[in-house]
Formats: sequence, structure tokens, C-alpha cells
Amino acid sequence: MDDKILPTIDLERCTGCGLCAELCPTHAVEMIDARPAVVRVQDCAYCGMCEEMCPVEAIGLVYEIVLPPPSESSS
Ligand code: SF4
Ligand code: SF4
Repeated sequence: MDDKILPTIDLERCTGCGLCAELCPTHAVEMIDARPAVVRVQDCAYCGMCEEMCPVEAIGLVYEIVLPPPSESSS
């Protein structure tokens, strides 16, 4: 598995409505025991649809922040 960053699902907040699984264009999310899970990690296109459509904002896409290397200033 690679180190791709995936949507994180806050199951405390999730109401189990199933919208994310229904709307995920690549079917990466599935409902398991009435709870959503990213079951096909490799299929997630990181499109943001689930985050956008979740009515209770239980899904967040964690963005990777890549900092530039420190410049070698000689001042
Ligand atoms: S859309 Fe949000 S509330 Fe509905 S199942 Fe997915 S994470 Fe839970
Ligand atoms: S980011 Fe897009 S592809 Fe990935 S789980 Fe959410 S809806 Fe599916």
C-alpha cells in the first residue's frame, strides 16, 4: 500500500445516512454495519465529494502540506 492520504470519517459525528457511500464516484466507500468505511483505498480519487456532501460534516480530507526545504541563506 502506498502512503496516500485518505478521507477521515468521524464516526462519533456520522449518522450512518449512507450518502457518502452512495455518492462516491469510485465506490471507494462502503457501508459496513451501518457505518461508512473507505474499503477500497486504492480507488479513492481524493475528489472531495464525500466531504462536501456529508450533511453533518463527519468527513474530512486531510491535506498534506509540503514545506519547501529551508533555504541556505548566508546572511
Ligand atoms: S455522509 Fe456523513 S453522516 Fe452520512 S454515512 Fe457518510 S460520513 Fe456518515
Ligand atoms: S474523496 Fe472522492 S473518491 Fe475518495 S472516498 Fe471521498 S468521494 Fe470517494
